[in-house]
Amino acid sequence: MTHTFPTPDLNGRTALVTGGGSGIGRACALALAEAGAFVHVVDRDAASAEAVAEAAGGRAQPADLADPDAIGRLPAEADILVNNAGLQHVAPLTEFPPERFELIQKVMVTAPFLLMRRTLPHMYERGWGRIVNVSSVHGLRASAYKAAYVAAKHALEGLSKVAAIEGAPHGVTSNCVNPGYVRTPLVENQVRDQAAAHGISEDDVLTDVMLARSPVKRLLEAEEVAAAVLWLCGPHSGCLTGTSLPLDGGWTAG
Ligand code: NAP
Repeated sequence: MTHTFPTPDLNGRTALVTGGGSGIGRACALALAEAGAFVHVVDRDAASAEAVAEAAGGRAQPADLADPDAIGRLPAEADILVNNAGLQHVAPLTEFPPERFELIQKVMVTAPFLLMRRTLPHMYERGWGRIVNVSSVHGLRASAYKAAYVAAKHALEGLSKVAAIEGAPHGVTSNCVNPGYVRTPLVENQVRDQAAAHGISEDDVLTDVMLARSPVKRLLEAEEVAAAVLWLCGPHSGCLTGTSLPLDGGWTAG
């Protein structure tokens, strides 16, 4: 008996990727488009959303995901939802600005919830859907100075599991991918912030702080995360739901 392992054919599928204008979201939008999906590129920054939408042959959807009204104007007819937009703030708990904490929960927990609530009826109607939540190793482990981000990613893990259980009878899967550090603008900003928080050089932040718990001593590339997201949208992943896929260089093995 021979087996074939086709790459996903997403022709006829529509995807909505948040934070699609940059980094991991951009790589996901391009990979999904390459597989045939029509991609809505959601980003706060209209210019970057436009640039990626043009490259992907999709549509830019400029929106601030901290604003529920803006989310209510996004397309509801999506077969694939990639909840990817995120931001970081690095500070000790005792000094953590409450308004930054709240904003991070809005963008990284409430927006994914509202987008699931908005797109699931369409997925249920078609009997097929894929939700991929770009979580983090920080959805599974904590680090100092990242109270808002760690809390939000752990909440996203729970939300993803509920969507998996509710979506299963409708052919909808929901999973998290959990990258370690990926070479993106978010990480480049963190290197600078961590250097200030720890009082060390930016080079030492990379080797001694960020990759200290990762046996694989290199940053992940955004395309490696996109490949996992694409696989979760493909033909061999229908039974894979409610789970979290660490792409963390072995961090969580320790
Ligand atoms: P990135 O390059 O900074 O991209 C994040 C995108 O989200 C940006 O385009 C950003 O827009 C957008 N965004 C932020 N707040 C938004 C809002 N209120 N409304 C709409 N869009 C908003 O970051 P990335 O590294 O690719 O991160 C993407 C996801 O991967 C995040 O959820 C992050 O937590 C996760 N992740 C990243 C790493 C890593 O090492 N990079 C590791 C694990 C998990 P602006 O540019 O306008 O702010």
